Amino acid sequence: MVQFETVIGLEVHAQLKTKTKIFCGCSTEFGKEPNENVCEVCSGMPGVLPVLNEKVMEYAAKMGLATNCTVNQKSIFARKNYFYPDLPKGYQISQFELPICEHGHLDIAYEDKSGEPCKKRIGLTRIHMEEDAGKNIHSAAENASFVDLNRTGVPLIEIVSEPDMRNAEEAVAYLKSLRSILLYLDICDGNLEEGSFRCDVNISVRPFGQEEFGTRAELKNINSFRNVHKAIYYEVARQIDLIEDGEKIIQETRLYDADKGTTHSMRGKADAHDYRYFPDPDLVPLVIADEWLAEWQASLPELPAERKARFESDFKVSEQDADLLTSEKDVADYFEAVLDSYNEPLKVVNWIKGEFLRELNQSGCSVSECKFTPEMMAKLVELVDKEVISIKIGKDIFNEIFTEGLDPVKFVKDKGLEQNSDSSSLEAAVDKVLADNPNEVEAYKGGKKKLVSFFMGQVMKETKGQANPGIVSKMIQQKLS
Ligand code: ADP
Ligand code: MG
Ligand code: ZN
Repeated sequence: MVQFETVIGLEVHAQLKTKTKIFCGCSTEFGKEPNENVCEVCSGMPGVLPVLNEKVMEYAAKMGLATNCTVNQKSIFARKNYFYPDLPKGYQISQFELPICEHGHLDIAYEDKSGEPCKKRIGLTRIHMEEDAGKNIHSAAENASFVDLNRTGVPLIEIVSEPDMRNAEEAVAYLKSLRSILLYLDICDGNLEEGSFRCDVNISVRPFGQEEFGTRAELKNINSFRNVHKAIYYEVARQIDLIEDGEKIIQETRLYDADKGTTHSMRGKADAHDYRYFPDPDLVPLVIADEWLAEWQASLPELPAERKARFESDFKVSEQDADLLTSEKDVADYFEAVLDSYNEPLKVVNWIKGEFLRELNQSGCSVSECKFTPEMMAKLVELVDKEVISIKIGKDIFNEIFTEGLDPVKFVKDKGLEQNSDSSSLEAAVDKVLADNPNEVEAYKGGKKKLVSFFMGQVMKETKGQANPGIVSKMIQQKLS
């Protein structure tokens, strides 16, 4: 049987967080009434002229700098011609021959199917600037279709990768890493569901050892990382099945159906576009001055990879923990804010990656919406660390104090949850447990030393989890020796 290798290349469209559109002064604000954010320029009236929003070139160039690209100090806007109701000009202003950034790369770290940590460098072909199209809205109730041009002219960068990825895990890691950089740069809000971060997944397969690439399908309409993963698995199996049945893969665009977990053909190569790209005569070549480039380079924030390295060296957290903490900027900021109040990185990281991230995921809120402040988290870790409460109590109360945003110190005091280190009352509890379980005491004395954890559990039950485990464990062993 022939073994097949998967080849994946990704195209990402990231909506830039500018206040105004790319070639006019209209607002980019989301959620307005249809066609509220529209003027003569972005609605494609004849005779108007586009003027580049300089934030767009700054953001595009910064993304290039952050991904090891060459920033072309001269780049050209081109018209990509096609007809669609959401594109009133009949062409999209994009870049073709001389994009603003080229030849970059991104280093990804991920776990493969079997959970092995892996690293890889993924080539970045280009990053170019372009305008978004509008939106067609189909109303069954009114039996009509409408066009909303609010999104027309909203700035995008398209980031095109080399066909360097070989499986779904690499593709998802690459996408997460790109998204993370966009968020660190604060140039895109990275929302897959709302479409401010959209990815097209190009996939082909080839027999292992064959140099030539197979024919690819391009998958669209995938709006979560989980679905990227699922779509790739489905599509790879589909292509291999076809080839094994002696059929040919056709180059086409396929849509992912999230409900069915399948892909289906949207358009084939037969009606593939010939966009007739040509330089836009309304826009002069974009020339980036040396000073601008130097200024953008100097103003780059600390990026995920640098922050990860700093976390490893300064806080001595493991590489995996550093990765987990820094891949979401919000989480990394939260972590550092906790340390400002209680500087015990290794203890804090356990609470962040365990309880905090779990509750955060379950609540569905973002770090900024979360009511449990870094100061509260710091107090909780300190309470456990100083043995005021047991770790078990800390975990038991976490959901409530997290959800409500309660001060842990006050909460523990009000509920009387402080750990019991009072030896006379603990001794009473230990004595009771030993008296209630004569068979286990017998077995322990006969050599089943593991039973100490059984006695511990019983004492904890007896004391509602408040017994100081260190003291109790010593006490049990003394009494039984
Ligand atoms: P288009 O503009 O038609 O989408 P490109 O040549 O720009 O085509 O390629 C788009 C993406 O497809 C790139 O990310 C590239 O890496 C990827 N790609 C190209 N050929 C293949 C292939 N045979 N298998 C998988 N991905 C591919
Ligand atoms: Mg494409
Ligand atoms: Zn406008």
